[in-house]
Amino acid sequence: MDTTTSRLAHNYHPLPVVIDSAAGAWVTDVDGRRLLDMLSAYSAMNFGHGHPALVAAAQAQLARMTLVSRAFEHSLLERFAAALGDLVGKEMVIPMNTGAEAVETAIKVARKWAYEVKGVEQDAAEIIVMSGNFHGRTTTIVGFSDDPETRRDFGPFTPGFVLVPYGDAAALEAAITPRTAAVLLEPVQGEAGVVLTPEGYLRRVRELCTVHDVLMVADEVQSGLGRTGTTVACEAYDVVPDLYVLGKALGGGIVPVSAVVGDRRVLEVLRPGQHGSTFGGNPLACAVGLAVVDLLRSGEVQARAARLGERLRAALTPLVGNGLVELRALGLWAGLDVDPARGTGREVCEQLLRRGVLAKDTHGSTIRLSPPLTISEDDLEWGLARVAAVVAG
Ligand code: PMP
Repeated sequence: MDTTTSRLAHNYHPLPVVIDSAAGAWVTDVDGRRLLDMLSAYSAMNFGHGHPALVAAAQAQLARMTLVSRAFEHSLLERFAAALGDLVGKEMVIPMNTGAEAVETAIKVARKWAYEVKGVEQDAAEIIVMSGNFHGRTTTIVGFSDDPETRRDFGPFTPGFVLVPYGDAAALEAAITPRTAAVLLEPVQGEAGVVLTPEGYLRRVRELCTVHDVLMVADEVQSGLGRTGTTVACEAYDVVPDLYVLGKALGGGIVPVSAVVGDRRVLEVLRPGQHGSTFGGNPLACAVGLAVVDLLRSGEVQARAARLGERLRAALTPLVGNGLVELRALGLWAGLDVDPARGTGREVCEQLLRRGVLAKDTHGSTIRLSPPLTISEDDLEWGLARVAAVVAG
């Protein structure tokens, strides 16, 4: 892309490929070249491109009804809320569109809960967030990023957020005060490079939240809906947060769908007129969301992700010390810290692109792999062989 003539604002730094069509785990560029998608739109394409059940659900709904706004009820809304709630074992759903919007929604809910239920003095509520966090790009959310680049030139920011080191339970305990409304965290940090927490950490977070009457809010926008080999990442760690934030794959890569999902005792603090979105919970979003929940209900997709994840680890673990400084993986999801001698993460991704694989660097020499959970074993092995060839040099 020539940035001197492009009519697009330069807020992204795309790899040099122009994609024209996609099917399953493969995309085709404008020159007719096929490339294996090992990013899946940052886990929004968990079920692969053009999944027949999702396309059919969308097409049927497109012809039937797409939007009435939340000024009226529509026939799919309650069904969607019940299906999604049941999938993750929660009672209530607030449907939104993007991940960042759902995170903002969770923040509003947590603050209101702190004032109404916990009795925190108005405007004093604090939300504890983690180093390395990524929750989206709104002004409030970038305001509590600990990445100076993310914040620079966008202030002043919303107050009321307290940063603690990710994975450090003692630091979290020390930061909790009677004003703490919530702990907001990603059970696995995706944008940070698939960063995992120490054994027992998330259970300790749950315990601290319970003991101090603080909401545990799990942002599973990227980690949720099958990626980790479980329905949500929290399940892999045997913890149940008070609120889940879901997005990305919930819209099947077809339409933006996000949601805050939690128990009635928390979500009922929002009363009619206090929060909303023109497109949140629209019929097309609900139809696709219901089809996504259907795909996850039997647990087969999750089990498959876990199985394929073992192949991924088997293929990449031998590279540690031979091109990789570190490998972090859970389910069909991996963060690879490439030896800086092999080049920057971006250079590695450009080499992968030349060999027919789509992947994306996150920062420095870290790249992330998150192929569609529906990828065939042969295609996965094909892609991993190319990753290994590039990384081992
Ligand atoms: N939360 C997490 C954990 C994410 O990874 C992302 C997107 N990468 C978001 C929130 C923001 O989602 P969206 O881009 O849909 O606003």
